[in-house]
Parts: sequence; structure tokens; C-alpha cells
Amino acid sequence: MVIDISGIIKNDGAILSIEFNEVIPSLEAVIKGIEFNKPVEFKGRLANGQGMLYLSGIMGTCYEIDCYRCSKHLERCIEIKVKEGIVSVEKNGDEDVYTYQGNFLDLSAIIKDNIVLSVPMRVLCSNDCKGLCHICGTDLNEGSCSCIKESGDPRFEVLKDFFKE
Ligand SMILES: [Zn+2]
Ligand SMILES: [Zn+2]
Repeated sequence: MVIDISGIIKNDGAILSIEFNEVIPSLEAVIKGIEFNKPVEFKGRLANGQGMLYLSGIMGTCYEIDCYRCSKHLERCIEIKVKEGIVSVEKNGDEDVYTYQGNFLDLSAIIKDNIVLSVPMRVLCSNDCKGLCHICGTDLNEGSCSCIKESGDPRFEVLKDFFKE
């Protein structure tokens, strides 16, 4: 995702509208167990403030993930407010900042970082998902199994949930 910034880089205060809607293939490898096969949409702008670039806008995408308790396949969507400063690579003395080089700005790292920070590591199909039976694997949202008897004490159930989280 490389953007030509030649139109604004020489003019202090210049603004470039940025809009894209693309599948970002490198996202796939970033978080284990999460599939990003929907495009990432972005609407915003890039402003030149004395040679420093300011990106702002709204980014959104959807991803697929399995419920942490019952493994049901889920789709979830996120919307992220993006606000980042970007400096010229020539002036950069700090490794932890986003940079542009000459007339080009690669947005890949910004896209990736914003999404990674917004995606939860664990997702539940619903807050009261009962999960799978630890013994026989029955989906307890759909029915009960005979193993329940042995651990049917509600106080024990609470404890089990506590240790699982
Ligand atoms: Zn579930
Ligand atoms: Zn069971």
C-alpha cells in the first residue's frame, strides 16, 4: 500500500485525500487463528505540517475467528480511528516512528499496527457461551451430555470458568 505524496510533500499545509478499499495480504500472517480475507477500507487525509505528515481517518475491516470457548466460526468487524505522524526517513533518528521516503509513503505498517491493536485475542460467540464439554466435546450451547452430572455443581462451574479465562 504505497502512496505517491509528491503532490503535497513540497507544500507546507497541503492536504491529500486518501481512500482505499483493498485486501492486505500480509495481515494474514500477523495474528494466529484470525483470517483477514475482507478488504481494509480507509477514508481520510494526509496533511503536510512542515515536512511532517499527519494521517487521520477511519479504517474498517472484518475478520474471521473461532469462538474461544466453543470454536464456532465467527465474523467480526472493527472500525478504528487512525491518527499517526510520519517523518521523513532522512530525518529519522528514532526507530519507533513511521517514515516516508522521498515521494512515497508506505502505509502497510500503519495499517497492520492499527488493526493488530484493535483485534481482541479472544472472542466469544456470545457472553454466555457455554463452551464444549471437556470430556466428550459436546457443544453445550446445543445440548447437554451425560458427563455434566459429575461436575454439575454450579459453584464448581463458576470456578472452572474462572480458571479458564
Ligand atoms: Zn461460543
Ligand atoms: Zn460431555
